[in-house]
Amino acid sequence: SENKNQNFIEEIITKDLENGTVNEVVTRFPPEPNGYLHIGHAKSICLNFGMAAQFGGRCNLRFDDTNPAKEETEYVEAIMEDVKWLGFEWAELRYASDYFEQFYKWALDLIKAGKAYVDDQNAEEIRANRGTLTKPGSDSPYRDRSVGENLELFAKMTAGEFEEGSHVLRAKIDMASSNLNLRDPVIYRILKREHHRTGAKWCVYPMYDFAHGYEDAIEGVTHSICTLEFQDHRPLYDWFIANVDVPHVPHQYEFARLNLTYTVMSKRKLLELVSLGIVDGWDDPRMPTISGFRRRGYTAASIRRFCREIGVAKADSMVEVELLQHCLREELNKTARRGMAVLNPLKVVLENWPEGFVDELPAENNPEDPEAGSRKVKIGREVYIEREDFMEEPVKGFFRLSPGKEVRLKHAYIIKCGEVIKDAAGNVTELRCSVDMESRGGDAPDGRKIKGTLHWVWGGDAVKARVNLYGHLFTLRNMNDMEEGKDYKDYLDPQSCVVMEEALVEPTLAQAAPLDKFQFLRHGYFCADSATMPERPVFNLTVSLKDSWGK
Ligand code: ATP
Ligand code: MG
Ligand code: MG
Repeated sequence: SENKNQNFIEEIITKDLENGTVNEVVTRFPPEPNGYLHIGHAKSICLNFGMAAQFGGRCNLRFDDTNPAKEETEYVEAIMEDVKWLGFEWAELRYASDYFEQFYKWALDLIKAGKAYVDDQNAEEIRANRGTLTKPGSDSPYRDRSVGENLELFAKMTAGEFEEGSHVLRAKIDMASSNLNLRDPVIYRILKREHHRTGAKWCVYPMYDFAHGYEDAIEGVTHSICTLEFQDHRPLYDWFIANVDVPHVPHQYEFARLNLTYTVMSKRKLLELVSLGIVDGWDDPRMPTISGFRRRGYTAASIRRFCREIGVAKADSMVEVELLQHCLREELNKTARRGMAVLNPLKVVLENWPEGFVDELPAENNPEDPEAGSRKVKIGREVYIEREDFMEEPVKGFFRLSPGKEVRLKHAYIIKCGEVIKDAAGNVTELRCSVDMESRGGDAPDGRKIKGTLHWVWGGDAVKARVNLYGHLFTLRNMNDMEEGKDYKDYLDPQSCVVMEEALVEPTLAQAAPLDKFQFLRHGYFCADSATMPERPVFNLTVSLKDSWGK
């Protein structure tokens, strides 16, 4: 049953089910709760939960909380919220820390089998004796301790009798292995820290490589899917599983991690951006976190679709952020209600507009969705247009407003620019226009062609709004290509958030609830910020209208 459209993970699973190697597919998404989830994690989530769903299996959400130094409950809660928001349901919620007792027993089993020893070397000595790719490591002077001595020393480590860093427990594998991961890796270290779940109970904590396979074994995980950098750790994963009595033998498979243009994805860097106050928290709309994308106006469906489009491969690559934007635009084009917002207003007075008259015109809410219906927009003598839609001396190809020229106000009337009013400094402050009262709805009765159509708001009911125009956080397309000696923060884009304080929006937009999504005509997709209020609306730019994907 070869299926050309399957990715390599699907092929492996299909085969395993056909062979009877496994009866049920069990996967897990194993975040360390030391930060918020980012778009790279979304790829892993879609893959792990996706495989379980597709093959009728189950997927656990497992907190890989074996390192007490960096982990916090805040992160645990944020991660659960983000996984749910992305649209996935875990079979079981697990914590690696629940298995500390079992890990410890397996560590004792390794010691008793002569396969682990307590080393008194400090971290620096261990590193120095580890050798290099071309040079074998050298055995620790403590490598041949007796089982009895190892058990006694490990008990003392566990009882808190030694200082942090003074002793570690190491697996006894092969200091000359061509795979550096197999040169007697550390499996337990002393950390006198409170753990967010086990409190002060432990002062020795297991290392990731030692714990991860055992977590999978305990949970009956069949396909332990992780990113490529763990490929060289797989022999170690298998060694730990093979050398104790586990209830189940899991297997590890590696796929390429997601890299995105104009983006950094390491949690260490994201945490630094937050703690230095460079961004407004983990959910700043410029952050590549799931919560940042949510606040920016992204939908869960667009992120899932993006993860489908990029596929699952075995070679690392750089994905264009434009693809993610494209996935979102395609969705919002069908679903987002249209509205008019003038970000940088220029006053226009319609001189021949009947004094005191207010007209009300129908405006479709979404031309892509007839079910979205229409609303009424009001217009009177004073309107505002976008400052950029006027040029006193138009350049070639400029079909918007300029002296003596006509444009259509969307849904409304054709106007013609007359006098240009300026302040003492020569800045344009107001335009005097005439309106063709026969062009109600936007068409000229004599059939003359009007090239430009502008969005606008009526001065009589427009609401002043703050609009945050977000761009990329960084200026460098591939953040792996930083110049030598530079820090990623040297590439921060000072223009990544431009705030328009004087924007004017049509009154229906002012009623938006946080996260409501709109297309502001001719601008792009925006969503209402969590701080929005009817008397002071706040919107965030989600993505502009112009789709540059594949162009
Ligand atoms: P970081 O390097 O940013 O700290 P991490 O890999 O240490 O991330 P974890 O919390 O351990 O973060 O990740 C949970 C899961 O998500 C792991 O299985 C990891 O392989 C996967 N993952 C992390 N980053 C990416 C990425 N950029 N693309 C795909 N999967 C990822
Ligand atoms: Mg990790
Ligand atoms: Mg990491």
